[in-house]
This record gives sequence, structure tokens and C-alpha cells, in this order.
Amino acid sequence: MIQLRDVTKIYRTQTVETRALSHVNLDIEQSDFIAITGPSGCGKSTLLNVVGMIDSPTSGEYTFLGDHVGRLSERELASMRNRHIGFIFQGFNLVEDLTVFENVELPLRYLGMPRGRRRFRVREVLEAVDLVSREMHKPAHLSGGQQQRVAVARAVVGDPALIVADEPTGNLDSKNGEEIMSLLEALHSAGTTVLMVTHSAAHASRARKVYAMTDGEFAPASGSVLRNIQVSRRS
Ligand code: ADP
Repeated sequence: MIQLRDVTKIYRTQTVETRALSHVNLDIEQSDFIAITGPSGCGKSTLLNVVGMIDSPTSGEYTFLGDHVGRLSERELASMRNRHIGFIFQGFNLVEDLTVFENVELPLRYLGMPRGRRRFRVREVLEAVDLVSREMHKPAHLSGGQQQRVAVARAVVGDPALIVADEPTGNLDSKNGEEIMSLLEALHSAGTTVLMVTHSAAHASRARKVYAMTDGEFAPASGSVLRNIQVSRRS
């Protein structure tokens, strides 16, 4: 589904050059659930931003569902993102002026879905995250856990092939973090591909594969897959 080949990302300011990603190779299969761990500053968010087409690599090849991402125009990139990728961030990133319903509806507006179908689909995903009763609330009137469930609903409402989650439980207590992990697991079980960054070893262990990053690279060759549940279950 996704291939990164020899992807390097360098941030340049007038005085400093930071190599955030260094010759990264990554294959993500359809319906995979991958967790990425590593110390702060090692390039995890940069990797998610590249995979999520929010940022572009300095060099290397990125292929998403057979398309060479580097050859797409801004407009085509935006369209790919809207159709195929749902984002969940540590800080929820909801639109404060919009209600829960309107926040979740937003991606469907961008997709041009007619109003009646939008209403039906938004209700459906709000039910899945148990927030129908809050649909007219503004984000500020919800707890952190509830806000992140709205963010999950917004990420999945367009039925994307890939969910990109950057420390989705980082701002939550353990109970609310668990709810988000359960939602991600349910999505994965339903066939959605999930790519998640986390600092929590316990949450990383819920993924099918765990990759460790240091200094813009995956940990050395043999150890790049720290854990692969499918393999270990078979053995
Ligand atoms: P992580 O998510 O693992 O904490 P990041 O991907 O955010 O790491 O950052 C990797 C490196 O790139 C860090 O050294 C960071 O300071 C640098 N970096 C990230 N974004 C930018 C940017 N927009 N401009 C300059 N440097 C950046």
C-alpha cells in the first residue's frame, strides 16, 4: 500500500541543518497496524507528516496506493489526503468554533458528499464513539477523552484507507487512553491501516508491528521490527 524508499528529510534554517529523516525505507501493507517509538526529536512526527502528505521529503521516493507522491500537484495531494488519510493528533486539533457534529462533518464537506448522506454518516460514527448526545457541544465543553473521540470520529468519517495517529493518547489519562486504543484496534480489525507514534510501550505493544527510531533512522537492520505479533503467535 505504502512504500518509502531512501527517504531523507532535511530542515534548513539560515544557520542550522537538521536531518530529521535519514535514508528511511518503510513498507506499510494494507490493514497493517504499525507503532513507531523513539526518543523526542528522532524524526517520528516528520515521518508521519511525510506519510500523511503534510510534508514532502528532501529526497527519496514515496509511493501511496501506486501513485508517486512526489509527482503530484498540490491539488492532487490535497485530494489524496482527503480521500485516503485520516489524522489524529496528540492535541486533538478540533475546530473550536464548530460543534462536535460540524467538526466530524468537515471532511465529508471537502469530499462533496450531499447533506443527507453527511448527516447519516456523521451520526453513524458519533454512535461508534458514543458521542451522539454531545453532537451540539463545542469542543471546549468536552473532556480531553471526549475531544479525542471526536477527533477519531473525524478521522474515520470519510472511511480512509490509512489512519495516521501522532501520540493519540499522549494527552490522556490511562482510562481515556485505553478507549482510544480500543477504537484504533477496532478500526484495524475492520481493515483500516493504522500508523501510530507513541511513547507508551504498553500502547505500542497493541500494534502488529513496532519499529524503533533513533536519529532519523529505524533501529539497525535485524532489529527494525521489534515485535511482530502475527509472527510470534505462529511460532
Ligand atoms: P519527534 O517527532 O521524534 O519528536 P520530529 O520529527 O518532530 O521528532 O523532529 C525531528 C528533528 O527535526 C528534530 O531535531 C526537530 O527539531 C527537527 N524539526 C522538526 N520540524 C522542523 C521544522 N519545521 N524546522 C526545523 N527543524 C525541524
